[in-house]
Amino acid sequence: MCLGLVDEDTGEGLLTSLPDIETTMLRWRDVPMDKQTVVAPQLVCRSNKGSFDRPWHLGFSVSDQDGYVALAKIYRAFFAAKGMHKTLREKAAENPAVHEILGAPVFWANTRPPAKAAEMAEAFREAGVDRCLFAMCNVPLTSPEPGYQDQMAAAIKRVRSLGYHVYRYDQYRDAFEPDPAKGQSHQINTNAWPDKMVVRPDGSRVAAFGPRSGIVCAKYFIPLAMETFDREFQAFDYSARFLDCLGSVGFNSESECFDPAHPCDRYYTREQRTALLAELNRRGKLAATECGIDYLIPYVHWLEGASTLVRWKEFFPRKATTENVGINDNTVRKGQDPMRLLSKLDPSATAEQSVSVSPRHRIPFYSLCHHDEVIVTWRWEDGMDDPHVYWQLKNLWSVLSGTPPMYRTTADRIAKYREQITRTQHYVSDWVKEVALDQMTNHRFLTDDHSVQETEFSSGKGVIVNFGAMEYALPEKQVIKAHDYLTFRKTDAGRSYQRPPCPNGFAK
Ligand SMILES: [Zn+2]
Repeated sequence: MCLGLVDEDTGEGLLTSLPDIETTMLRWRDVPMDKQTVVAPQLVCRSNKGSFDRPWHLGFSVSDQDGYVALAKIYRAFFAAKGMHKTLREKAAENPAVHEILGAPVFWANTRPPAKAAEMAEAFREAGVDRCLFAMCNVPLTSPEPGYQDQMAAAIKRVRSLGYHVYRYDQYRDAFEPDPAKGQSHQINTNAWPDKMVVRPDGSRVAAFGPRSGIVCAKYFIPLAMETFDREFQAFDYSARFLDCLGSVGFNSESECFDPAHPCDRYYTREQRTALLAELNRRGKLAATECGIDYLIPYVHWLEGASTLVRWKEFFPRKATTENVGINDNTVRKGQDPMRLLSKLDPSATAEQSVSVSPRHRIPFYSLCHHDEVIVTWRWEDGMDDPHVYWQLKNLWSVLSGTPPMYRTTADRIAKYREQITRTQHYVSDWVKEVALDQMTNHRFLTDDHSVQETEFSSGKGVIVNFGAMEYALPEKQVIKAHDYLTFRKTDAGRSYQRPPCPNGFAK
């Protein structure tokens, strides 16, 4: 974990490296100062079950130039020194399937029954998507319906036959009291209820979803998962698995269990979270989680969320918020209704930009640190067409940072946006494939308003993206159209530029 501060004018920077993720909390605080509010970072050292039983480390590194790019290099070296640098090439040497997902969009089939999901995969393939990480997500694992398991197995086989990798949503964090009216579902870990839950010192249960929910104690992650993995990888041709929550949950009250029958602490919880992903690696499966807390990177092939700032998806509060909330909750404009954005008739309309898609705020710090180590994409609720007025912008961000597209959509939207899906496949994924195994070596703003940005990769390839509404001319005379990009490669004679293979999204 780290926290960086840079002076954009001078390029000077300060990086705070925080190796003890189990006992470190980082907060943003609103600090009133001379009639203004300054948002200031606050570092908190926390105990492990009430005791400060291990050393707590805090490192400061300074750089006098190159701002966050220099800080990213410092963080990469720090991460490697902790033994966590493992490249996608190294992961591919262990599991060659990594080569088959480079540039591949992530797709969540928002449907049921299973055969319908397979039809969606076929429609996606017909739209020109030749590789894909396909989630059979909204189909329950079990159903009282006769023959359901066979339908599921057949649907997975159909999707695999397209050359796609198939995975499913899974998690070992939340558990719920069994509800006979709803039937059993593995996804909510009812078999862990009620005695395998994290308990506070006073005996009360830690819960994220009310009194009929709880948090599974780390002692039971692996026993619960082994049972499910054994059964499912036998019954279904899954080649990958998405374990939710691991990459987003920090180390708070849910990482300390005081039940005398199964006590555990923060360090043990970290080991067991890692062990879940390591178990998928051991079985030769591709592994993923949400967001992107980076101690998990050595065990993860793709992350759903690191492209979405700051957390979850677009968030539009209806009332005024503090500066602090603005930083943490992806807010730019107050009072905007996301449903209005979703229902806008013209998908090429200009919409107010949130933190996530606005060039004003973003830097590709995560990619500068980790691009050659793990594939990152948008958060799983934050698909390209959700809302579709951001599709073109999301394509540009994906191109700039070399990250594949994300879809979580419906059969009728695949039909409606078939042309945009085909375009995105070529406009984004063809390029992402080219740089997928590279380190991102540089990023810079070419205009003061940040509307034109450039990234470079270790293979000598790079891209200049124009987020602006006006065309942009390079000193070499090439012109980049509004909302478009040019790729380049370094040659002995300078840079050789190339136009995208097709128009962006809804562009004419
Ligand atoms: Zn416990």
